[in-house]
Amino acid sequence: AVVVLRLGHRPGRDDRMTTHVALTARALGADRAVLVGDASQAGATVTDITDRFGGPFDVTVTDAYRPLLRDWEGTVVHLTMYGEPVESVTPAIRERHRTEPLLLIVGAGKVDFEVYDRADWNVGVTNQPHSEVAALAVFLDRLFEGRELDREWADADRRVIPQETGKRVEELDE
Ligand code: SAM
Repeated sequence: AVVVLRLGHRPGRDDRMTTHVALTARALGADRAVLVGDASQAGATVTDITDRFGGPFDVTVTDAYRPLLRDWEGTVVHLTMYGEPVESVTPAIRERHRTEPLLLIVGAGKVDFEVYDRADWNVGVTNQPHSEVAALAVFLDRLFEGRELDREWADADRRVIPQETGKRVEELDE
């Protein structure tokens, strides 16, 4: 399993970004997102999308990330511009992920040093500053080697039929 832990949600300012972190996690193969802080609006949006477009995907909003970090039995990867290059370390992370669940941490503002310290890998998607959504997308695609792009969604009530032009959505029976 891959669980995405989103740290440092600033209410108002980060609502869209936190929503996009969780939607990207869902669309690109993670199993669960844990949103830390007052992120109930983002949580509700993602639950609604999962209800309509399918799952499985779980989203949890919590006040404290330290218990999860402390008790996590598996690999911890932290995405940061200060980390080691994604292209060098992902093969080793993928190998470890064959047998262990993966906690994948992204920040918003400044991330506490204890996260850098606790991580098995601090990973940079380039060492340039950009976005947690972009970093998450590139990392998941590298981890899954593109297989996440082709998957079945369970319990969806609608499905988009790809079109060269225009929009086509099929309503599915329960
Ligand atoms: N200035 C903040 C700091 O020093 O921690 C980072 C803010 S950045 C807008 C928000 C998050 O995006 C970071 O916590 C990290 O997870 C992710 N991020 C930004 N650039 C990244 C990069 N080049 N590689 C990996 N993750 C990145």
